[in-house]
Amino acid sequence: MSRAAVTHQSLSWIDDELTGIRAEGLERSLLELSSAPGPRVVRDGREYLLLGSNNYLDLASHPEVVAGAIGAAEKYGAGSGASRLVSGAIDLHGRLEERLADLVGSESVLLFSSGYLANVSTIPALCGRVDVVFSDAFNHASIIDGCRLSGAGLQVYPHGDMEALSRALQRTPARRRLIVSDSVFSMDGDSAPVERLAELAAAYEATLMLDESHALGVLGGRGGGLAQQVGVPVDVLMGTLSKAVGSAGGFIAGSHQLIQFLRHKARGFVFDTAPAPATVGAALASLEVMAREPERRARLLGRTERLRAGLGGGGLRIADGAAAIVPLLVGEPGPAMELAIRLRQAGVIAPAIRPPSVPPGTSRLRLTVSAGFSEEDVDTAVEAILDAWE
Ligand SMILES: *Cc1c(COP(=O)(O)O)cnc(C)c1O
Repeated sequence: MSRAAVTHQSLSWIDDELTGIRAEGLERSLLELSSAPGPRVVRDGREYLLLGSNNYLDLASHPEVVAGAIGAAEKYGAGSGASRLVSGAIDLHGRLEERLADLVGSESVLLFSSGYLANVSTIPALCGRVDVVFSDAFNHASIIDGCRLSGAGLQVYPHGDMEALSRALQRTPARRRLIVSDSVFSMDGDSAPVERLAELAAAYEATLMLDESHALGVLGGRGGGLAQQVGVPVDVLMGTLSKAVGSAGGFIAGSHQLIQFLRHKARGFVFDTAPAPATVGAALASLEVMAREPERRARLLGRTERLRAGLGGGGLRIADGAAAIVPLLVGEPGPAMELAIRLRQAGVIAPAIRPPSVPPGTSRLRLTVSAGFSEEDVDTAVEAILDAWE
């Protein structure tokens, strides 16, 4: 007798799909590590330098952060048991929201289980069918999905093109208009022209939403993100706890009214079980370390600059950027994968990013270092990359 509880008869078409994906050089596999995502990771008993994590401040395995997770799990349990609107709310959630509001300088914050969920829940809460969203062509998938879910009209403007955005705003009236952009773009590491975005939003009475996933903890006087660095307030600020903060979760920051409204209308808040205590405890501890050790941010940016300079000095073309993402453009997916494989043989893990994560023809290695890297670590990586490139 078969033990299988599921059958795949009706799904035989998937074989063809997978064959197609393989033929395009786009097949993906999981690279399993058996260690924390620090500068050095272990895979199959071998140690590698990891240039592919968003654990920018190297806080994911910081003893205080791990202790924060353990302490919270011991007191509140492993799971929170329900949506916060039912019985899943614990004082820890509220405390983290207060700390985050303080960090980014907003009246209020609403916590989600992930940044992805924050985006796909918030955009549909703010816009419906009679509204229009203006979205940068390089925005993160969770923003794109949020726009689709909202049913709003969608105006995608070319990456960073404020002239195009201005024209689109001019010719597209609607009940409500939302401009949404990554602040630091996740695959290119460049920054959005936040001042201009805010000017346009004001001029056309639109709402500005900024996704600070890659800027939180990295940019800004207190690590509050690009809006904080530039000194421009935004209406809706989204952030994640899974990158520089080193835990998991996402949040929306804004006015008291916005947050109170989202508590009713953001479906990924209403219908999602509250974030697990351990992730919240870890994030709280992490924010403390971030505040106490601003030098982590400086070290991250210094190491990133060293990586840029090393690769540039070796003749590779590296795009400028103020944040912690260094894209090494290759072009086609096959060669990008081959480069990643050669690097791995040399003891460096650097992820090849291919379509659909980036536009066709722009497959790349997306390189990141962290505050935990020594200068020697960066130099080792640069040498390996230059060798593998040839
Ligand atoms: C990673 C990321 C998200 C999603 O955040 P998670 O907490 O990982 O779900 C959203 N937006 C951008 C720009 C990101 O890079």
